[in-house]
Amino acid sequence: MNTSVTTLDIAEVDRRHVWHPFTQMQEYASLPPVVIASGRGGWLTDGDGRTYLDGNASIWTNVHGHNDPDLNAALLDQLGRVAHATMLGLTHAPGADLAAELVGLAPAGLDHVFFTDNGSGAVEVALKQSFQFWQLAGRLEKRGVIGMAGAYHGDTFGTMAVGDSGFFHDRFRPWCFATDHFPAPEEHDADASLAALAELLRAKDGQTACLILEPSVQGAAGMRLQPPGFVRAVADLCRQHEVHLILDEVFVGFGRLGPMFVCSDEGVNPDFLCLAKGLTGGYLPLAATLVRAEIYNAFLGTYESRRAFFHGHTFTGNPLASAVALANVRKLRPLIESGVLARRSAAFGRLLEAAFAAHPHVRALRYRGFAAALDLAPADGGDYPVALRAGLKVCLRAREHGLLLRPLGDSLLLVPPLCLDETELNQLVTRTLRAIDDVLPTLAF
Ligand SMILES: *Cc1c(COP(=O)(O)O)cnc(C)c1O
Repeated sequence: MNTSVTTLDIAEVDRRHVWHPFTQMQEYASLPPVVIASGRGGWLTDGDGRTYLDGNASIWTNVHGHNDPDLNAALLDQLGRVAHATMLGLTHAPGADLAAELVGLAPAGLDHVFFTDNGSGAVEVALKQSFQFWQLAGRLEKRGVIGMAGAYHGDTFGTMAVGDSGFFHDRFRPWCFATDHFPAPEEHDADASLAALAELLRAKDGQTACLILEPSVQGAAGMRLQPPGFVRAVADLCRQHEVHLILDEVFVGFGRLGPMFVCSDEGVNPDFLCLAKGLTGGYLPLAATLVRAEIYNAFLGTYESRRAFFHGHTFTGNPLASAVALANVRKLRPLIESGVLARRSAAFGRLLEAAFAAHPHVRALRYRGFAAALDLAPADGGDYPVALRAGLKVCLRAREHGLLLRPLGDSLLLVPPLCLDETELNQLVTRTLRAIDDVLPTLAF
């Protein structure tokens, strides 16, 4: 049947035909729909004219806000030239310029950029390049991968294999290749984690191709924080054992934690750096894998040597996405260098502490930069029953207060666009607090 959005309510068409990601569709269909119609700055407006603060930056992507005049202009300028041309054997100005810009921002040595169009793809590329590198080097026994407990690197088979996302991915384990995981550090103590990693690297000496890590904060695990110096210590262990270090900065990069990239801030030179979410400021799908020169050079040879990297995606390095990414990065850099972003995130931290540090229904508060998690719990201890959907109920209530949030079980993740000023950050925190206070004290089970 040919349905048209002009004759049927959009929400009804959606319910009939769209299968949403990470969503129990039976539950979704029972909830009031929100149809986003427009956006400006940190705010989104629905089809009925209700306006909401975008409390998770449209799944952790948005930087300068929606409908940003500078990003719009860059996009329109490129649209007037060409919307897409392949990078298979050709190039274009926005793609080449963006690659140079990213190399300029990244730690020394990361001087080649492989474009894809999502974070999972950026990680897959790093893994495959590491595997192929060791094959080309004649080190066929270096095939293993080490990840950290609780890691999330995406939903494709390779990224599920190196991740550790519990019931999200458990049912797909039989089709994933084997990997090893070491325990994550505590927020203030990394000794046990690093000792276990050192032991694992020793046990697998000469058999490990690469180690992959979300540096500083594991986002999808619920903002699990690593102590200062941890990434550096992991990097040192990798070097000692001749293991490639892949840093997945898909979430933490582009100012999310303050600096442009965590690795530069921590003085770590990874072999691969994976970027996506904030790369285009939340506008278009684009991802990048930055690679060290020694790795790139190992793939060089004649055509018939079969050393080339046989991997690519149809929309790799799309010109529109590259143009908007370039504008995003150029606008972000002065915000970081001037200290504007650091002042905003410090204000965010103070607001979070004041509202939630001693709240009876917040068992734990974790935050770094513009990434925060609140673990909700009954005031007298224990956990809410899963079926109660306490986190979801708080998020639904937050909508009535003009705030969009998405729960992770019974944790609330607050991940605002980086453009929010102190007044808006205060609105984010007070609206979250109001929703918690409306719902949780009276929740019976
Ligand atoms: C979101 C995310 C990914 C996956 O990115 P997609 O664009 O959703 O494929 C990978 N790693 C981290 C750390 C992420 O947060």
